[in-house]
Amino acid sequence: MNKTIFITGASSGIGQATAQYFAAQGWNVIATMRSPKKQDVLKNSEHLLVLKLDVEQPETFKEVIETAIFHFGKIDVLLNNAGYGQHGLFEATTSQQIHRQFSVNLFGTMEITRALLPHFREQKGGNIITITSGVGRVTVPLVSIYAASKFALEGFCESLSFELASQNIRVKIIEPGNIATNFEQTTKENFADGEALIDYADYLKQMDKVFKSIYNGGGSTAADVAETIFKAATDESNILRYVIGSDLQPLIDIRNGGTDESYMDVLRSTFVPKN
Ligand code: NAP
Repeated sequence: MNKTIFITGASSGIGQATAQYFAAQGWNVIATMRSPKKQDVLKNSEHLLVLKLDVEQPETFKEVIETAIFHFGKIDVLLNNAGYGQHGLFEATTSQQIHRQFSVNLFGTMEITRALLPHFREQKGGNIITITSGVGRVTVPLVSIYAASKFALEGFCESLSFELASQNIRVKIIEPGNIATNFEQTTKENFADGEALIDYADYLKQMDKVFKSIYNGGGSTAADVAETIFKAATDESNILRYVIGSDLQPLIDIRNGGTDESYMDVLRSTFVPKN
């Protein structure tokens, strides 16, 4: 029997690339998304089922999961991919923006994970793969809310991995660096720049220059992330974290290789301008 992956946020970017990659490897794919009608790349086929799912609507999950299991017989892997970046100045970010960031990135992930666990327990196995981010491990300025949601996801997944090991359910984390998808556009649209907060104007300009000088794209694509997700789904290892992107690995090495003070010194030298 073919294996089956259930993906959230499969309408674009990493989710869509992963749906295509797994389907090409002969897997059954349940590609869930908020607006299936807008989807023109993934089409329902023998091995690909597109279903409507908004991670902010947990009351709908049971029916979607039942439909998926009825269609393919079982689910082997859950990919928690749906998410977006609420970037900007913390002081300029509204409470509503903060709550929504956690509602999608964290609570949505928790709720869909909990909804699938009875199925994984019943079949005595499963794999839960969650996309966090490089900024779930190391931070940069102007992403405090996004980073908080992804750090929370990291803690959630790491702790969950221990209790679910008792049920033969693996938990894995994917940490991409900068990947060219719709993510950047969504981030720009949501950016909290607080035009009234004139005191930050120079800092915002300085950081714009710093980011342009240090981010050269990271060199990885959504297809590279999909390949790593496939590895995580099939390597049967106890590896918890998979890092993708040459822009990210050096920062994680600094974090892992030294003291917290030396790590903070390196980041401050880049992100805190000298007056
Ligand atoms: P993307 O192309 O913007 O894809 C994001 C996906 O999440 C879209 O399918 C979007 O659906 C979906 N989504 C947003 N809110 C949702 C909700 N309430 N319910 C269901 N789906 C929802 O960006 P991406 O880069 O592929 O992002 C995928 C994941 O990778 C995210 O968790 C992101 O944080 C993470 N990530 C991205 C990068 C990067 O540089 N691209 C780096 C690290 C981590 P709609 O089409 O309906 O909006």
